[in-house]
Amino acid sequence: MGCTKETRMCTWGKIAPLESCCIEHLKVLTQYTHNLFQEYAIPYWIDFGSLLGMYREKGIIVHDTDVDLGVEVKYNNKISSLAARIEADGYLLDSSNSEFVQRIYVSKKNQLHLDIFLYQKNGHILESRFKAAHDFLYEYIAPLGKIECWGHEFFAPNDITRFLAMRYGPDYMTPRKHYKGPVRRETHDGEDLI
Ligand SMILES: [Zn+2]
Repeated sequence: MGCTKETRMCTWGKIAPLESCCIEHLKVLTQYTHNLFQEYAIPYWIDFGSLLGMYREKGIIVHDTDVDLGVEVKYNNKISSLAARIEADGYLLDSSNSEFVQRIYVSKKNQLHLDIFLYQKNGHILESRFKAAHDFLYEYIAPLGKIECWGHEFFAPNDITRFLAMRYGPDYMTPRKHYKGPVRRETHDGEDLI
C-alpha cells in the first residue's frame, strides 16, 4: 500500500529502513524545496547524511528519515514568510524551532520531512545555530558546488569529498549501519579544533 500525503509515514514510531514510497516522498520534497529556494533566491546546500547518501549511495540512506539542508541564517525570515505558499503547495512549514532549524513536512499528516539547519557567518567560519560541533569553514559554500542525484542537480559544498571527510572521517565511503558520526569540528584553516 505505502504512505501518501493523507497518511502517516510507513515507519512512524518504528526503527526500520525506509519504504520506497517514503523515499519517493523525500525525493519529491527535496526537489520541491530546491525549486522554491531557487524561485526566492535562497542559497542552500545539501548537508549531513543527505549529502553522504547522494554522494555515496546516489540517493537517500535508508536509515535516514529526513533530508538535511543548510542555509545562512540571514535568509531565515524569508523562509518563515513562505509558510502560506508552502501550505498552498500541499506541504507544511514548521518554524517552531526557527532559532536553529526550519522544517518542511511532506504534509500535515505525513511526518516525513526536510530539515533546514541555520548557520551564522562569523569571519571565515559558518557557525551552526544548532550545535557548535557542526561549524565549518565558510569557504566550503563560497562558491556553492553542485551534486547530481535522481537526474537533478542540487547545491552542495564545493569540495564534497573533503567536506564529507571533515563531517564523517576519512572512511566515509564505508557504510556503517545507524552510524552518523563522528561529526568533527573544523573551524580554523582546515585544522580540527577538538
Ligand atoms: Zn511510505
